[in-house]
Amino acid sequence: MQFIDPHIHMTSRTTDDYQAMAAAGIVAVIEPSFWLGQPRTEVGSFKDYYSSLVGWERFRASQFGIKHYCTIGLNSKEANNETLAEQVIELLPLFASKEGVVGIGEIGYDDQTKAEDKYFRIQLELAKELGLPVQVHTPHRDKKSGTQTSMDVCEEHGLDPSKVIIDHNNEETVQDVLDRGFWAAFTIYPKTKMGNERMVEVVRRFGDERIIVDSSADWGVSDPLAVPKTANLMIQKGIAEKSVRLTCYQNALDAYGQSGQMNETDWLNDEGHDQRELFSGNSVLRGQEPKITKSSGIIE
Ligand SMILES: [Zn+2]
Repeated sequence: MQFIDPHIHMTSRTTDDYQAMAAAGIVAVIEPSFWLGQPRTEVGSFKDYYSSLVGWERFRASQFGIKHYCTIGLNSKEANNETLAEQVIELLPLFASKEGVVGIGEIGYDDQTKAEDKYFRIQLELAKELGLPVQVHTPHRDKKSGTQTSMDVCEEHGLDPSKVIIDHNNEETVQDVLDRGFWAAFTIYPKTKMGNERMVEVVRRFGDERIIVDSSADWGVSDPLAVPKTANLMIQKGIAEKSVRLTCYQNALDAYGQSGQMNETDWLNDEGHDQRELFSGNSVLRGQEPKITKSSGIIE
């Protein structure tokens, strides 16, 4: 079975992760722009980060046989530095129009401050203007009201719920999100919050329509194999294969494919990869033996 992980921060992950993900059947990932753990102090740091998401990281993924897409946005935490936020907002249209950018994200609320609200709204307008899907990060505190507010604000700005993916859902928020026509994504955390046992029950209870599974793996305790592991658990627990395919592959493709930047043919017609390839003069090899799956790359 093939999988898509539509929320994973590969910049913080290793080549071992890429290898394990490809071996487990992950064919494509979406990397949202996010907070790096340490607050940035200059607009140039954002610029270089966005450049790496559309450039180097996309190349690095390709060298392990995985298609890499991203969403571009100012995260809610750093929206609270208003002087910097103003400058970051100016950068966004340039990067949001690059190849492989499938949405504006991850944006939304953290502490639900006035500044977060202001920059969330500005970015919703940008998404509307560019016709891109929106990837919404919902707050981990006051989850229920934060999720409702996020949807209210999207509606207020005239966004079509079918182009908005609400992430970090739980059993308390999912029904409301589905009833209002939004996509409901679930982040599978290894031990806390939403585990994969709970996810199986969510699919059993709420169905497979507009429900999306992701790992949100980053620099913290997280699991880059959360999507394939949850899929396997679903199969073991008697969930129909059709539902596993929808929640761990097809729904993410349908939601973010609306950007026009992500097509199944990207990986189905893939010619393989050649680790001797370079990006700005650099390869991923560090002197190691290259793996070559491209037929034209076979050395006789
Ligand atoms: Zn994230």
